[in-house]
Amino acid sequence: MARRSTPAAKSANKAATRSAPPVECPCCSGRAYAACCGPLHEGHAQAASAETLMRSRYSAFALGDVGYLERTWHPSTRPRHLELDPATRWTRLEVLGTTGGGPFHTEGTVEFRAHYRDWGGPEQIMRENSEFVREGGAWVYLSAL
Ligand SMILES: [Zn+2]
Repeated sequence: MARRSTPAAKSANKAATRSAPPVECPCCSGRAYAACCGPLHEGHAQAASAETLMRSRYSAFALGDVGYLERTWHPSTRPRHLELDPATRWTRLEVLGTTGGGPFHTEGTVEFRAHYRDWGGPEQIMRENSEFVREGGAWVYLSAL
């Protein structure tokens, strides 16, 4: 069996050597990370809706991007010092429903179920109805309802 390295395989190897970003987006959109939450995390794009922001925050939890979580948290409710639990591995997101949160809204809610495991234990589910507001044009997380 001939083993030949294709250009695609070479570039995949190259990507893997620098702290490889995930190929599939952690927010379960079915899209590539680079075309979904990636540009938001890198500051190249802004979430157009509350749901998009919620998804990007879930991805940030999954990837341990504390800076993004702080930037997208309303100043009035943002924790003074945010630390993520290294034991928690976020495994799946389900968005159950939304209200408002669109281009012409200033408020919105997103109800979701976030699946996770602690220390590789059984899957657990966090259910939350989150409230988002627009702050200086950008969607930010306010609180859980
Ligand atoms: Zn995403």
